[in-house]
Amino acid sequence: METITITPVGYIKSPYKQKFAIPRQPRLVPEAKARLEFCPDFNREEFVRGLDAFSHVWLLFRFHETAEKGYSALVRPPRLGGNERKGVFATRATFRPNGIGMSAVKLDGIEYHQGQLSLLLSGVDLLDGTPIIDIKPYLPYSDGQLDATAGFADSRPETAMTVSFSDTALDFITQQSHYPELQAFITNVLKQDPRPAYKKKRSEQQEYGMSLYHYNIRWRVEGDHNHVFDITTEQQFSESDK
Ligand code: SAH
Repeated sequence: METITITPVGYIKSPYKQKFAIPRQPRLVPEAKARLEFCPDFNREEFVRGLDAFSHVWLLFRFHETAEKGYSALVRPPRLGGNERKGVFATRATFRPNGIGMSAVKLDGIEYHQGQLSLLLSGVDLLDGTPIIDIKPYLPYSDGQLDATAGFADSRPETAMTVSFSDTALDFITQQSHYPELQAFITNVLKQDPRPAYKKKRSEQQEYGMSLYHYNIRWRVEGDHNHVFDITTEQQFSESDK
């Protein structure tokens, strides 16, 4: 078997600090803003000259957190409630040969600041620290096939989930000024219903937590409703680090 060595061109800085609660595809949560920082060998304006003419880019990346865990031929797509199996190449599963992912995300800008070249992105479905192995402009005339069909994943996953916030959670959101879209961001993440498929069948009330930026967000699920009851700053950060 041939082995191919790949060198990352950059790394992602993303608000998603853990896999849990990351949307299952890009652009489902437009408030998810990230930065792609180029590695030293690619940290030159020449590499991205002309890219600012494009609204969206394809990112090819490595599922670095799970890539070493291997893969199997059959997987259970969350779309099918986690019951039915499909071939790994018929899905976007993260456990796949070579552990390579691809996401078309919005390109909000290109920045060259204090010697660091970065792409400013939104709508990402990427974990913080994800290695990027290539970047290509998104071509609507070819990549956006309006007549394409997609079997069991034919439409955007919609859930009936609603979201509310406690007064303490709302106070926390209004007192921080760094992320004006924080409430919409949390709302749209929770509307995606991040729970694993098997938990969704349970009727009893359950509590969950996730990290976004350096915030710890805790919510309760009851039926189709998410109630965010607490938001705190993670301990290793002081408010001045924001
Ligand atoms: N759009 C991509 C990814 C789809 S799977 C593709 O189609 O190839 C999306 C899931 O990947 C997210 O829900 C998140 O849990 C997981 N993920 C994101 N970045 C990851 C990383 N660096 N390592 C492992 N899993 C990651």
